[in-house]
Amino acid sequence: MNNNLKHYDIIIAGSGFSGTITALALHNSGFNICIVEKGKHPRFAIGESSTPIADMILRSLSQKYNLPWLSDFSRYGSWQQSHPEVVCGIKRGFSYFKHHPEKEFSTNANHDNELLVAASVNDTMSDTNWLRSDVDSFLVNKVKEYDIDYFDCTEITGAIRENKKWFFDIQREENAMCISGNFFIDATGSGKLVDKLFSVQSVTAGFLTNSFAVFSHVEDLPRWTDILHSKNIPTEEYPYDPDNSALHHVLDEGWIWVLRFNNNRTSWGFTLNGDNSTLYKMSASDIWNVMKNKYPDIKDLLNKVSISSQPGTIVHTGRLQRKLGKCFGDGWIAMPHTFGFVDPLFSSGIAWSLAGIERILEIVCNNRSFDAPLYEQLKDYEQMIFSEIGLIDMLIAGCYQSMRHFPLFNAWSMLYFTFTIMYEQRRLKNLPVKCFLEADKAEVQNMIQTTYKEILNLTTQKTISKQDIKVFTDKIRDRIQPYNIAGLLQPSSKNMYHHTVAML
Ligand SMILES: Cc1cc2nc3c(=O)[nH]c(=O)nc-3n(C[C@H](O)[C@H](O)[C@H](O)COP(=O)(O)OP(=O)(O)OC[C@H]3O[C@@H](n4cnc5c(N)ncnc54)[C@H](O)[C@@H]3O)c2cc1C
Repeated sequence: MNNNLKHYDIIIAGSGFSGTITALALHNSGFNICIVEKGKHPRFAIGESSTPIADMILRSLSQKYNLPWLSDFSRYGSWQQSHPEVVCGIKRGFSYFKHHPEKEFSTNANHDNELLVAASVNDTMSDTNWLRSDVDSFLVNKVKEYDIDYFDCTEITGAIRENKKWFFDIQREENAMCISGNFFIDATGSGKLVDKLFSVQSVTAGFLTNSFAVFSHVEDLPRWTDILHSKNIPTEEYPYDPDNSALHHVLDEGWIWVLRFNNNRTSWGFTLNGDNSTLYKMSASDIWNVMKNKYPDIKDLLNKVSISSQPGTIVHTGRLQRKLGKCFGDGWIAMPHTFGFVDPLFSSGIAWSLAGIERILEIVCNNRSFDAPLYEQLKDYEQMIFSEIGLIDMLIAGCYQSMRHFPLFNAWSMLYFTFTIMYEQRRLKNLPVKCFLEADKAEVQNMIQTTYKEILNLTTQKTISKQDIKVFTDKIRDRIQPYNIAGLLQPSSKNMYHHTVAML
């Protein structure tokens, strides 16, 4: 054995926010940590729209693991005060606008083609869109500041497990090294390394959602509210300025995310139904242009933009849905985004990752010798994470089913907001939290399974009448009623929700 071999309690692969926050918290809990990162910061990363749940978890991690600066990133106001150099955007809530092919956007006094759900009460308290290249490199600098060993431009080329220890061969440019560790955390954000090292494959089978994305960052995007005003569409009843939110344009083929940062840059992405194989097979720029030309207001928005220097191109993903066959093994565990992903709708990725970090930290800190009880707890964790990805998948699949029929989309989406409220309320009351979005609760599972069957039946009908929509909406209103502290689906709200969360 190599005498110069450096040994760690835990080796983490990947230095996105999952890897770095986990490393920092474990370091402060007394573990000797190292991070191995294949790339180099600052680097482009997608996954930018946070949520109030993510903010709550950031504050909790900040307190529990003595990372006081971390909670500054949980609100727009404190972020701007403490780190204005780390770029982000204001995200006051979730906004949706339904567009029809070849037609200009229009709506009515009841806001039938709009849905705005506030997530925060004002800009200072607001949730945020993270410019990931800035956020992630800030966190990597913190890792270095805390004297955590950090190897960038480094790949793990081989792994051997002997006597409850890992021996990793790592390669940094021309230099080959070996490091050892008691435990390994995969935070690489894809299943590839787990497949390479442990032969656990990532699969797409079994998902209800089938989607792909075409995205980039753009400069000088006109404000959507300016376009609305130019059409004399009133915005006085909006709970916030939708340009300062996670803005969604809902199309027939899928949807668009528009996430503005406060430096003139905007994240723009088409997320499209993968069943549309004609679109899927086109190049990224062809899809961009086809979609732009089909929807007049999208054309107005995109005609004026230029592609940002990072990523400097339009990215075309493969099918987004993936999950590993298991999320842990002997001496290793996968973080949520390594384990799997569904689709960016509802921005669940950051919050789900942070919820995973919170649970993994708890499990590891309670099992410092990495013995049998650790694996008992990891089994529970695995069960939870499979339930959670199943719930997220069904929530999103129901949206794709209903994108052509906005009132159905609107009603169905209220299940997501209800589960969010349930989870947030549990955290606010300091009740023990188990599963993200309460995925382990029978009432949640019953509600979604029953309603999913109904939306499938409805959207496969030849025609959908106003009465069908009313019956469906009434059923959802009744089902969510015991948890509905935000007046969701109350006709008087006219799709404008001013308060969905308590003052967070
Ligand atoms: C198209 C798309 C849009 C999304 N939009 C949203 C959104 O709006 N809101 C939201 O909440 N979530 C979103 N997500 C999800 C979000 O991207 C993830 O939740 C988030 O990036 C997870 O962070 P992470 O640190 O776990 O992984 P990542 O951000 O993927 O970071 C992984 C790191 O590991 C490194 N790495 C990779 N392979 C190796 C290797 N073999 N060895 C060492 N290092 C390696 C990478 O270079 C990278 O630095 C989106 C995802 C996609 C695909």
